[in-house]
Amino acid sequence: MAAIWPTIGKLWVPFATSLNDKIGGVGSYTLLTTAVFWANYIPTYCFFRYLDHTGTFKQYKLHPGKMEPQSLNDKVVEGMRKGWWRGPPRTALMYFIFFHGRMNMTSFPKFTDMCLNILMGQVLNDCLFYFWHRASHHPNLYKTVHKQHHEYKVANVGATSWNAAIESFIILCTANLCVSALNFDLFTWLAWVSVVNYLDHHVHCGYSFPWNPWNLLIDPEIHDYHHFQNAGSYGTFPLLDWIFGTDRNFRGYKQRRLEAAMKGLDDGEKENRLDVTSDTVEATGFV
Ligand SMILES: [Zn+2]
Ligand SMILES: [Zn+2]
Repeated sequence: MAAIWPTIGKLWVPFATSLNDKIGGVGSYTLLTTAVFWANYIPTYCFFRYLDHTGTFKQYKLHPGKMEPQSLNDKVVEGMRKGWWRGPPRTALMYFIFFHGRMNMTSFPKFTDMCLNILMGQVLNDCLFYFWHRASHHPNLYKTVHKQHHEYKVANVGATSWNAAIESFIILCTANLCVSALNFDLFTWLAWVSVVNYLDHHVHCGYSFPWNPWNLLIDPEIHDYHHFQNAGSYGTFPLLDWIFGTDRNFRGYKQRRLEAAMKGLDDGEKENRLDVTSDTVEATGFV
């Protein structure tokens, strides 16, 4: 990294300076944010779709026998195909609200500074996301704002970014507010977009790979539980759920699974006998 990082910087600074001169701050921010988002999103989405269709790694799938309806997957693809044009104007709006005249568009950060900023951005963003997500499960907000995301009754890659337009806007605003408060430069912002994108796929992919180091940070079963039981576990990271006790249902579920495993029940038995009762469960309010 010691040798590669300065080389990346030598490429980045003239590129970003030239782009900024040609299309300005809003143009650079919108173009690069859009490009980085889709460059991360599409391969990851296709990878997990491929796993679902071929059954590759099905031993690590959280609900191997539980496939979402094809009509829902079609709707997601159709949403991407027809709705992609909404992203750039929304991104440009975010620039004017949060970054115009404030974001350094051409500087190149130290590697350690970038990592620290991304970490702080994640912590701050998860605080806001936790309270927003928990509030969105209030029946008044759930039906109009959050229900679309829960069309997926178990975690699946299709649920990544599958939100109502108003919810996407709110999540974007809270994320950009955190980044703005921490004064990210453009390069750090683009790295952050990649990390957030990956984490979103990690919690929604519907697989738990035992060799994935990200599991140490976030157990993908937590958000899967949120989808199939709709009872607590609101944060991306588990800390705030632990502080506010909204992980109690998930912890009880894990405990019962552990006990079932010790009695020698197989996976299917465990699911059927324990908690999978909620294909049609709706918002439960502030659980
Ligand atoms: Zn939810
Ligand atoms: Zn989700």
